[in-house]
Amino acid sequence: MAIDFQTYDDDNIFAKILRGDLPNKTVYEDDNVLAFHDIAPQAPVHVLVIPKGKYIAHDDFHAKATDAEIVGFWRAVATICDDLGVTAEGHRLIANQGAASGQLVPHFHVHIMAGKPLGPLIAPDS
Ligand code: 5GP
Repeated sequence: MAIDFQTYDDDNIFAKILRGDLPNKTVYEDDNVLAFHDIAPQAPVHVLVIPKGKYIAHDDFHAKATDAEIVGFWRAVATICDDLGVTAEGHRLIANQGAASGQLVPHFHVHIMAGKPLGPLIAPDS
């Protein structure tokens, strides 16, 4: 079934993690942000950073979140990269938005990926 990117789904996987209905391997938490290891890592370091508010994707987050939430979120991303030790070596931040990007979980999140040469920005056409 196609993912609905218009209406927030309270049963999406990350909503369940935020409620404590599903476990996660937390690497960072504050009042507005949670970060945890991806369940299917695609690099030696693969961490997901999510706001605790109900935002579907980055358009929704940047349209509806408070300035404090937005600043706090991006400061947390930088702090987490430092904590993971991947700031100096380099890393990639990815935020998928909607169907064409392949977004699978309709709760805004940023992937932090690092720990090996990450290759081209997107997969070559098959
Ligand atoms: P998207 O494609 O939406 O940008 O990325 C969703 C990510 O969530 C994927 O990398 C996927 O492996 C991860 N993921 C899906 N379900 C779970 C889960 O239950 N726990 C964790 N930690 N990650 C998940």
